Amino acid sequence: MRVLVVEDEPDLARALVQALREEGYAADLAQDGVEGIDKATASDYDAIVLDLMLPRLGGLELLRRLRLSRKTPVLILTARDGVSDRVLGLDAGADDYLVKPFALTELLARLRALIRRSLGHADAVIQLGEIAIDTATRTVTREGVSIPLTAREYALLELLAHYRGKLISRTVIYDRLFGDDDDTLSNVVDVHVSHLRKKLGKDLIVTRRGQGYIIDA
Ligand code: CA
Repeated sequence: MRVLVVEDEPDLARALVQALREEGYAADLAQDGVEGIDKATASDYDAIVLDLMLPRLGGLELLRRLRLSRKTPVLILTARDGVSDRVLGLDAGADDYLVKPFALTELLARLRALIRRSLGHADAVIQLGEIAIDTATRTVTREGVSIPLTAREYALLELLAHYRGKLISRTVIYDRLFGDDDDTLSNVVDVHVSHLRKKLGKDLIVTRRGQGYIIDA
C-alpha cells in the first residue's frame, strides 16, 4: 500500500512518513500544494494524508483539482478550531479528517479503515481459506496459528489479498510497495513471493507468467 503525505511542517512530515514506513507502507512526501497535486496525479496512491494549510497551493484547492480526475481516499489534517475548514474539506471530497494535534496511532487506524472501505471491505479480517489476515493488527494466522511475516511480506500479502481475484502485475506491486526514494531492485517482489509461499503454502499466490501474481477469490 502506498500513501502520499502532503505536509509542510518538517517535523510532522518526517514523523508521519517514518510512522507509515514502519507500518510497512510505501510513503512519499510532498512539502507544498503544487508538489502535492503533481505527485497525487502522477502515481496511484492507496490514500493521501493532506494538510490544509500549505504553501503555493492550499489543501482545499488541491483536493478540488484531485477530484476532477481521481477518487484516491483523502484524510485531511485541520487546525483545532477549523470547523469550517473541516466542512469545506469534506464537501470538497475528503473522506475523513483529523484535528491537529493528533495521535499517530489514530491516524494509522483511520488510514487503514479508509483504505479498507475504498476497496469495498467492511471487515478488518480478510479470510483466505485457512489463512486469516487481520489488517487492524497486521497479523496473519493459519488455522489460528500465528505466522510471523516481515513488514514487506505482510504488505505484499495484504495487497494481493485486498485485490484478490485480480491479477496484479509486478510493476504495480513494486509501485505500491516501494516509495519514490526506494531504489530496491524490482526482483525483490519475486523474492518476497517465494518467502510467502514457504510460510503460507505454495498454492496461495499464483504466478501468471510474464504478467504478475494473483490470489484467487
Ligand atoms: Ca501546514
